[in-house]
Amino acid sequence: MDKKIVYLDHSATTYVKKEVLDDMLPYFTENFGNPSSLYSISRKTKSAIDTSREKVAKALGAKKEEIYFTAGGSEADNWALKGVAFANKNKGNHIITTNIEHPAILNTCKYLEKQGFEVTYLGVNEEGLISLEELKNSIKDTTILISIMLANNEIGTIQPISEIGKIAKESGVIFHTDAVQAVGHVDINVDEMNVDLLSIAAHKFYGPKGIGALYIRKGIKIDNIIHGGGQERKKRAGTENIPAVVGIGRAIELATENMDEKNKEIASKRDRLLNGIVAKIPYTKVNGSLESRLPNNLNVSFHFIEGEGLLLLLDQAGICASTGSACSSGSLDPSHVLLAIGLPHEIAHGSLRLSLGEATTDEEIDYVLDVLPKIVQRLRDMSPLYSKAMGEVK
Ligand SMILES: *Cc1c(COP(=O)(O)O)cnc(C)c1O
Repeated sequence: MDKKIVYLDHSATTYVKKEVLDDMLPYFTENFGNPSSLYSISRKTKSAIDTSREKVAKALGAKKEEIYFTAGGSEADNWALKGVAFANKNKGNHIITTNIEHPAILNTCKYLEKQGFEVTYLGVNEEGLISLEELKNSIKDTTILISIMLANNEIGTIQPISEIGKIAKESGVIFHTDAVQAVGHVDINVDEMNVDLLSIAAHKFYGPKGIGALYIRKGIKIDNIIHGGGQERKKRAGTENIPAVVGIGRAIELATENMDEKNKEIASKRDRLLNGIVAKIPYTKVNGSLESRLPNNLNVSFHFIEGEGLLLLLDQAGICASTGSACSSGSLDPSHVLLAIGLPHEIAHGSLRLSLGEATTDEEIDYVLDVLPKIVQRLRDMSPLYSKAMGEVK
């Protein structure tokens, strides 16, 4: 018999909602025409792309002509950074970002540094927030781009995007934000936020994997990174992934429906989980801001234990979660985000991210609150650090 799975890793990816899949299915079979072709069956796919583009634009407060489909969040981030950097290099070579961005931004910046660009990585405070003052002071004559994420994927911190956008606008610098984690949780409006470019990815809001979009404000100078045919108004080549394009449209429509209500519900479950964990498990640290935070994100560190062991035992109990500890990411250092908010290595290694979803139930929260304290205690009982700290002699 299959054991019940408690999925608390929605920041890693989500399932595809039934309504989304239902909309997608006909575009694998009967509606398969290449939208670039001229016969009538292609008109259906062409208009499906159109409709989806409209839905994405509406959810972001953008115009339809400013939405470009990509193969996911990473491509959108790569395109924004490389595209703007190369198209504007006659104006300057300086880029500003933060040290808590997703690898799709950080590793693209590392690449651009090798290509002769200069990158400033702003630090964050212990809540995970940048300083607007420091941002202002980092802008130089040569600054061509600011890229700062809307919401962080590990600790859920939401940056003051409108204020950042205002600073960028006043300085005449192009502003990109990675909003991949924010869709469905934060009210996004590209004009109110003064954003010039914005990345999203469908699989973080109950849509399919391998599809995303980049919002590009009209008039922004940006190079292509995928060269080829004339799709996406000559800006992003390749025959369109129609089922996925249809999927992202429906998914973003659903994600932004009754958003405040859904978020309130998720936040109340998250808070119950948080308070229960803190009450039941001693030597626990809550990571990131409690105020400016995604409603579905919880990130805690348990002293004296390692995240990998914790994930393994949680998995045995049917609970899917994530850690900022090192081995899970295949590197030696723990999460760059947890280090950036000032956690010592050993505390960062004992971190756990639980990210809730729309389908998370109260029963699931109760189950985690029952199982997690026992697992943490079991690991601590095996930890020499713990017995030493407790003054036990072994
Ligand atoms: C998931 C994620 C990405 C990457 O998106 P993919 O669709 O997996 O390429 C980029 N940025 C953030 C903040 C993310 O959470």
